Amino acid sequence: MPDPILKVDEIGVRFGDFQALTAMSIAVKPNTIHALIGPNGAGKTTFFNAVTGVRPPNSGKIAFDGHVVTKASAHRRVHYGMARSFQVTNIYPNLTVAENLRLAVQARHHSEGWVFWRSPAARGDIAAEVEEIMGRVGILDRAGTRSGDLSHGAQRSLEIGMALGAQPKMICLDEPLAGMGIDDVHRTKELIVSLKERMAVLLIEHNMSVVLSISDFITVMAQGKKIAEDTPERVRNDPAVRQAYLGS
Ligand code: ADP
Repeated sequence: MPDPILKVDEIGVRFGDFQALTAMSIAVKPNTIHALIGPNGAGKTTFFNAVTGVRPPNSGKIAFDGHVVTKASAHRRVHYGMARSFQVTNIYPNLTVAENLRLAVQARHHSEGWVFWRSPAARGDIAAEVEEIMGRVGILDRAGTRSGDLSHGAQRSLEIGMALGAQPKMICLDEPLAGMGIDDVHRTKELIVSLKERMAVLLIEHNMSVVLSISDFITVMAQGKKIAEDTPERVRNDPAVRQAYLGS
């Protein structure tokens, strides 16, 4: 059994007097899809923000790929291989899809210390990688499209593509299917499944049929706490989960 890539131990987050998260723990294994579900206000976004460094926790510990990152900046976590689909990406609406992706890939080469602008070979590598990412996320035919003119679904795909430019070890996806039509949902679902060949996926998603069909593990939250954690089959039949989340 491989070590978890992300190990969160009993973190707490307070907003003033309000305890938004209490003793939240999770262990995400490499090459798995681990979903986080729960009713609105359960603390899912607060948890994502603590994991990705937007708002570090008040208590507890977070370790990522062997590094203790409890109080580390979001930037440092990205450097260690953690990506979030929207927060770490800066899409420039006036640049094309390919240009935006080139920036994301170049940023990684910079941080790896490559002198990309001197080397035609490295430039060729970047172009090939940009093309490969566009193919993976299904926007190859939009390479020359101004990013601001993309459809909602294609925009979300570009956001995931930008995160992939960092070649992360784990990607955090915050409602990747929100606002998508049926075709985009199907395509994005396939994309998420393909991601786990190369990385761990931590997923917040409201589309329960998709969550139940693609996740390896599901952590269920309610009122800032973990109330269940198991495989989709067992979570689906857990009475406490049905009570808190599914409403039956
Ligand atoms: P979810 O993503 O599961 O819908 P959130 O993490 O957004 O839940 O919210 C959890 C709780 O924390 C909610 O009660 C919300 O009102 C509260 N909360 C979230 N952010 C803040 C904040 N910046 N200040 C005060 N309360 C907040």
